[in-house]
Amino acid sequence: MDRRRFITTLLATCLLPSTRALAANPLTPFTLQEDDDSASFVIELEGSHEHKVFTLDNPPRVVIDLPQVSRIAPSTAPRQHAGIVKDVRTGRHGDGIRIVLDLKRLKQPKTHVRELDAHRAQLIVSINDPDPLMAAVTAEAESHHQPRKAIIEIDAGHGGKDPGCISADDHYEKYVALGVADALKARLHADPRFEPSLTRDSDIFIPLHQRVLMARDHHADLFISIHADAAPTPSASGASVYILSEHGASSAMARWLAESQNAADRYDSTRDSNIYSDDPDVQSVLIDLSMRGTDVASQKLAKTTLGHLGEVTHLHQHRVNKAAFAVLKSPDIPSMLVETGFMSNRADCKRLLIKSHQQSLAEALHQSVADFFEANPLPA
Ligand SMILES: [Zn+2]
Repeated sequence: MDRRRFITTLLATCLLPSTRALAANPLTPFTLQEDDDSASFVIELEGSHEHKVFTLDNPPRVVIDLPQVSRIAPSTAPRQHAGIVKDVRTGRHGDGIRIVLDLKRLKQPKTHVRELDAHRAQLIVSINDPDPLMAAVTAEAESHHQPRKAIIEIDAGHGGKDPGCISADDHYEKYVALGVADALKARLHADPRFEPSLTRDSDIFIPLHQRVLMARDHHADLFISIHADAAPTPSASGASVYILSEHGASSAMARWLAESQNAADRYDSTRDSNIYSDDPDVQSVLIDLSMRGTDVASQKLAKTTLGHLGEVTHLHQHRVNKAAFAVLKSPDIPSMLVETGFMSNRADCKRLLIKSHQQSLAEALHQSVADFFEANPLPA
């Protein structure tokens, strides 16, 4: 391509004598490099890098305001520009300087500041047609534009003064829950599709309603509460997945609201037997679920999860359980509670305490989350 290139180096001559003290902003030389279609204007700024660059039409021009520059060193070169820039004009503007590049046709400038050292920087104003290759790359990227990351709120059950279920040999559910939650968080964090967040990452007590508020504050797309079970019969074992039953939810919700009229967090005291289910199998989980899982999404999520958990542990029940959990509604967030096994079962408990088993559970949950979003992509 026969593209003429003209370089005008603008040498220092004081065109604009100033009455202001000049110590902070001495003479500022600039260069202009241009051809038929593009131009690059570079000015060195000392002290303040404050600038404003914009375009005006009629005639088409790029305006560069430098409010902290008091004097400028413009060109001694003849004003016969052969490229896109027809003329360069400088003048006072307020206490600073205005530089105007008159263009043959209007183009949008791009501005870039390059720090030279602690005090000096180059202001570079590029006037270009978009690079055709870059434009193509950008268009390609936009057409395949990646959906945003799905935000997964991972809730490690219990914590702090609330140990959760306690095994016969004095192991606490709260530690198992945190171990699995941590492992899941690490896995999701390493997966570019997801942005995990934990309701707790240490052994602290967090009231239930606060866990739901956290999920909401984080704009979570999914809520997973991780627990381990206990049952009066030591033989009960295996993992279970719960979602909330509509009927139970509404009555539990009503009860919860009725019981929490005072500001104090009711979970801050001893567990309240009122929010326990009559079903002994699920009794131990009812206290800690704050979610609503009646919608189809929760059902799908829970079903997928059961399948994946079944690959790494045996299942207590092969169907998704619905229970009347004490709940604070999160109607817009698909939610489930995973009981990873039984603290009250010797073999289960032993496995639940092993890091590699916690990792396997986290892997199954990660896969479940991935499958869920594969089948139910986030809205664009
Ligand atoms: Zn629990």
